[in-house]
Amino acid sequence: MELARRLAPIKPSATLALNAKAKALAAQGVDVVGFAAGEPDFDTPEYIKDAAIAAIREGFTKYTATAGIPELRAAICQKLQQDNGLTYAPEQVLVSTGAKHALYNIFQALLNDGDEVVIFAPYWVSYPEMVQLAGGVPVIVQTREENGYAPDPAELKRALTAKTRAVILNSPSNPTGAVLSDDALRAVADAVRPHANCMLVTDDIYERLLYTGTPFHNILNVAPELYPRTVVVNGMSKAFAMTGWRLGYAAGPKALIAGMQTIQDQSTSNACSITQKAGFAALNGPRAPVEQMVTEFKARRDLFVSGLNAIPGVKCQMPDGAFYVFPSIRALLERSYKGGPLAGSIAFSEILLNDFKVAAVPGAPFGAEGHLRMSFATSRSNIEKGLSRLRELAAALT
Ligand code: PMP
Ligand code: GLU
Repeated sequence: MELARRLAPIKPSATLALNAKAKALAAQGVDVVGFAAGEPDFDTPEYIKDAAIAAIREGFTKYTATAGIPELRAAICQKLQQDNGLTYAPEQVLVSTGAKHALYNIFQALLNDGDEVVIFAPYWVSYPEMVQLAGGVPVIVQTREENGYAPDPAELKRALTAKTRAVILNSPSNPTGAVLSDDALRAVADAVRPHANCMLVTDDIYERLLYTGTPFHNILNVAPELYPRTVVVNGMSKAFAMTGWRLGYAAGPKALIAGMQTIQDQSTSNACSITQKAGFAALNGPRAPVEQMVTEFKARRDLFVSGLNAIPGVKCQMPDGAFYVFPSIRALLERSYKGGPLAGSIAFSEILLNDFKVAAVPGAPFGAEGHLRMSFATSRSNIEKGLSRLRELAAALT
């Protein structure tokens, strides 16, 4: 069947595909170690579930305002003020079905055909595809491990043109876990400032998952004058272990938020009413469950990184945030498996899953060939088991 031309260049999500494959194998009884999922393994805190159950019992099961229930929009404004020092009015906030949906709405509302969006590689798999679905052109600017994945200001300046409509920032980063310093954020602001038509999209979804003790900052904290040109994206998935509930939001200039709302009006309408009540509870609830989760993630990260670096041919930097390790496996890819050369990170991750029962996302779909992305949102015993299987694969290479 002939489908729309706009679909032709769009790839399915590698993260979701691998996660689904690992889950299907596990359902067949295969002992798979899953590092593919970009989601906390912890359960949603009880107080959040209670709020959702109460919402159902009270019959809070009807359509809501497309942009979200007023108390949730107000709670998001309060969160942005308290946690981020950013002032927003409720009409500058749109509640959507996940941060992914918020991002999708942004590009649909912002881009004309041929508009360019600067994306720093390694990038989250969905950014280039969402930009293309909106008719935009992703412009990839490479960042390097040896610079802590901070963008090179000169390269960024070269990538910015009269057609650049947005630059996407994601710190802490999926997939590298890198956190941009204030200086790195300032350098991005300095490069973007002269391009009056260029917006900044800051995807802060991993804001709470920080391991260095340095407080979270986004670009508006170092360049507040860019407020009229910045849209902040965040959500409940990662911080509150609520991936399946689907709740995210965007806060930004009124005109952009209104445009996004029109798109949402004519596509999905409001985010689930029950989930919105749960999200309200999450934002107003105790911080202890999140803090406990972060403490455990940090211990797992340390275990994972030292275990990876103990495998000959694997090199792994310490991620400062999010819940991913992003080891380089370049030295392994130069070797052969069962007499044949390895054709890159995708082939490596297929062998790792099929023959060693470990699910890890290859670096290629993140724009980072030579790497693997492994989530440490899984138990320490799974991490140890996965490490020993990866060691077996490394040992089997010739
Ligand atoms: N941004 C990044 C960088 C992510 O890793 C994710 C996780 N899928 C999202 C946005 C979207 O999260 P969600 O739609 O679950 O809120
Ligand atoms: N963001 C997560 C990941 O990268 C969830 C899956 C997805 O939406 O891509 O694995």
